[in-house]
Amino acid sequence: MTDVVALDFDGVLCDSARETGASAWRAGCSLWKAWEGDVPRAFIDRFVELRPLIETGFQTILLMKMIADGVGTTDIKARFGECCQAIIDEEELTREELVGLFGRTRDRWIETCPEEWLELHRFYPGVIEALRESMRKGPVYIVTTKQERFVSLLLDAVGVAFPSDHIYGLDRGMKKEEVLRLLLAEHGARSSRIHFVEDRLDTLIRVTTCRDLAAVSLYFAEWGYARPEDSREARACSRITVWGLGDFLVL
Ligand SMILES: [Mg+2]
Repeated sequence: MTDVVALDFDGVLCDSARETGASAWRAGCSLWKAWEGDVPRAFIDRFVELRPLIETGFQTILLMKMIADGVGTTDIKARFGECCQAIIDEEELTREELVGLFGRTRDRWIETCPEEWLELHRFYPGVIEALRESMRKGPVYIVTTKQERFVSLLLDAVGVAFPSDHIYGLDRGMKKEEVLRLLLAEHGARSSRIHFVEDRLDTLIRVTTCRDLAAVSLYFAEWGYARPEDSREARACSRITVWGLGDFLVL
């Protein structure tokens, strides 16, 4: 049996919450005149706290807008989707526009000051060593909602030559369960076992409802952006194994 590993990126390998908040602010500066200069420290702190609500990059601009507008934490947590839609409607934006703006903002930042951008990221302790070890043993994939080029850049920066065709990110436009289905078909359910590590509980729960993915082993990474209530819920689900950092990729 070959172990095939599929890893989420943000919140599993890399803590990019501060960079994401800062990129969201920079993106917002080109939309809203009142935003200028460096992002206030307090905004970043609130952003990091609320980061678990975000599924894809474009929502970061909307979350930063809620923070800048002084929307209360309870409101944001209870009605995040609605609040996002309200801003999109009021400001006459589109999801595509926001996705493009967010990517371009990051590209420009990386182009002008790559050290500053990289500096805001942190890989969780021990994960890079575990990743290298895993890559020596068998196929490893990154399955993320981040754009592929940013993943490559960050792994390059820590000296990991990760094959770009093993990165399934935003630009491929596939849901994570579709990627898992593809990996299962490619590697064969009889001769390999797919292990999927993710810090977003909703995503894991969604996979548990796919009958054709019943053979995929699911791991919840509790060191990432997970909230304590997510860990509790994950523990109660028999399909999901909860991993702490020390368990990471010990198969
Ligand atoms: Mg994640």
